[in-house]
Amino acid sequence: MLYQEFTRDPLARRRYWARSAVGWRRVAGARPNAGHRALATMEEGGLVCGVVTQNVDGLHQAAGSSRVVELHGNLAEVVCLECGATERRDALQRRLLDFNADWNDAAELPAPFDDAESAPDGDVELAAGLERAFQVPPCLRCGGALKPDVVFFGENVPKERVDAAWKLFDEADVLLVAGSSLTVYSGYRFVLGAAERNVPVGIVNLGRTRGDEIARVRVHGRTGEVLPALSETLL
Ligand SMILES: [Zn+2]
Repeated sequence: MLYQEFTRDPLARRRYWARSAVGWRRVAGARPNAGHRALATMEEGGLVCGVVTQNVDGLHQAAGSSRVVELHGNLAEVVCLECGATERRDALQRRLLDFNADWNDAAELPAPFDDAESAPDGDVELAAGLERAFQVPPCLRCGGALKPDVVFFGENVPKERVDAAWKLFDEADVLLVAGSSLTVYSGYRFVLGAAERNVPVGIVNLGRTRGDEIARVRVHGRTGEVLPALSETLL
């Protein structure tokens, strides 16, 4: 969703939160995989300075990584667009369900809705009636509109996060890109920065990436398989 759409259009917010209320179970239930754990192990072993991620699921921290810069924020928090107050997303989930007790009963939804964020357009139409009936709870402090504390399309990554990421970058001898096509500039900029400063780049990704021309090492594979192998080899 576009930042401008979310902030200006109450119906867009309602649609977002209705789908988020349904999709949250899946998000909250997600667990780190072998790739997350390998990065944490390599940090503990002194091989990894830290992780700069575009993910918003908090799974790197859950796996044990301690130095993590979340460029796009984290779904675990929501922030008020008016007063800036924050609330835990799991606390908001209780309010979302309380506000929509009837809706929640009606929303015993088919399987695709477990994956609400990536549900194709057809499913959105199916949910339109439910979305219209959905009541969005306001900020507890000021009554303003709440937004997940993540960077939307059309929104900039806060400067302090970019600075923190460059700080990690400066400590590293190598930039390893894992599981990203580098489509989004917020991550791609570090590959460009590495090229500029002659820092070697390695890329582990299944598909093509924007950094393939720059990478000194390019591994086509799943991070969940390649990173554990890397960790075992180097530690
Ligand atoms: Zn507020």
